[in-house]
Amino acid sequence: MDGSSVSAAEGAAAPAGHRGDGPFRLSVIVPMFNEEGSTDAFFDAVIPVAESLTSDFEILCVDDGSKDATAARVEARAADDARIGLIRFSRNFGKEAALTAAFDYCDGDAVVSIDADLQMRPEVIRDMVAKWREGWDVVAATRADRETDSGVRAFLSRRFYHYFNRISDTPIPPETGDFRLMDRGVVMALRQLPERTRFMKGLFAWVGFSTTTIAYDHGERHAGTSSFRLWTLWNFALDGITSFSTFPLRIWSYMGFVTAFLAFLYGSWIVLRTLIFGIDVPGYASLLVFTLFLGGIQLISLGVLGEYIGRLLQETKRRPIYLTRSTVLPRGREDAEDGP
Ligand code: UDP
Ligand code: MG
Repeated sequence: MDGSSVSAAEGAAAPAGHRGDGPFRLSVIVPMFNEEGSTDAFFDAVIPVAESLTSDFEILCVDDGSKDATAARVEARAADDARIGLIRFSRNFGKEAALTAAFDYCDGDAVVSIDADLQMRPEVIRDMVAKWREGWDVVAATRADRETDSGVRAFLSRRFYHYFNRISDTPIPPETGDFRLMDRGVVMALRQLPERTRFMKGLFAWVGFSTTTIAYDHGERHAGTSSFRLWTLWNFALDGITSFSTFPLRIWSYMGFVTAFLAFLYGSWIVLRTLIFGIDVPGYASLLVFTLFLGGIQLISLGVLGEYIGRLLQETKRRPIYLTRSTVLPRGREDAEDGP
């Protein structure tokens, strides 16, 4: 485990001193979208783990505009268990927005984000807390395998992170996801990031802090199916790249230079050839090929500009990242009205 912690901690701070074995408050934050089949099993699995760690914890669920009975299931549990809270969105805003809301409302000393589908085993939280006590600010769980993903998804995902890390200033440790423990200070830092495009994996990396990793086996979904189709993931990837790199914008200046240089060489050759051998009429094929090729290149560069400009537009509108229709915070917290 120490080997992997080196790669994740690259460029980040070393851990602070031991946090001691005293009492602490734990926040478990859970984005939920159409998870009615998993919620009860999730609570049954996570509550004993939390209880074994501390007497003071909250489980903060964010219902991301589910179309099924997810919210009702959580409300039923929250009625009996004051440690469970529920933030309901007015519609589906996406997992990244759900995580953002949870970070805005949670108040633990240590905050663990975890999916509701039990693909991430709650027992791992024990090891995370142990690492946090050792002094690490962030403990990210890394997937030991990608067996539960389709071959295509696993392959594309790996490619994406490979290229992302080559062009981004803030590399993302491979195979880490949204299953992680963060110290309160890290959550405070995340709250300061104002952008509307919430590529959380990138934001996690951007804020820094001392980071270590724990490997875990990613299980099968407890119930239901993944909400992420290839097209969603593609747009997610574009969000990530445009938020963390301007390389796709800059590359076109270089392409322009190279093309202009080659055009100059070719033009000189044509002039020379005309001077030596006279006017040579045929040239239809080469003319068409060059026109189409340059047209294609120009359209691609325009498209890249469009990707950035569209996102700039989203940012300048400064719409809220999410809207809530109701907020029930765990008992003992009277700050519901003061939320963001
Ligand atoms: N999720 C969400 N909003 C969405 C899609 C997903 O809050 O629009 C939640 C979902 O309920 C789950 C987590 O995000 O807790 C991960 O989703 P999923 O299991 O579908 O993704 P995968 O594990 O396939 O990446
Ligand atoms: Mg899942």
